[in-house]
Amino acid sequence: MIRIYRRKIDDLRRVVIPQQMLNGINVKPGDLVDITCEGGSVRIEKSMPTCWLCRSDENLVEVEVEEQNCMICSRCVMRIQMALIRRQRRLKKYYTFEAAEEIAEETAQQETEE
Ligand SMILES: [Zn+2]
Repeated sequence: MIRIYRRKIDDLRRVVIPQQMLNGINVKPGDLVDITCEGGSVRIEKSMPTCWLCRSDENLVEVEVEEQNCMICSRCVMRIQMALIRRQRRLKKYYTFEAAEEIAEETAQQETEE
């Protein structure tokens, strides 16, 4: 049988959650909780660290972003690395192409001078 606790919401829309319930979900004062609303019910769960980008909770790495510690999963780290590598390759191609054009122009000028 589900035990129902009846509480009054105060003027600041706060409600005291019974200690037994918090113990049941391993939450103590100062912990973060996630509050969601679905199908007319409000759900409170212990906040678990998740990836800042995809919300996954697997293989998290702590990263400092603007003086805040954020968690990013290794999959997202890999995606970022791959995007950077692709970008670097594109830039390299561009610069290589530009350098090749410059060399071709210089060679053409030298040939006309000779
Ligand atoms: Zn992720």
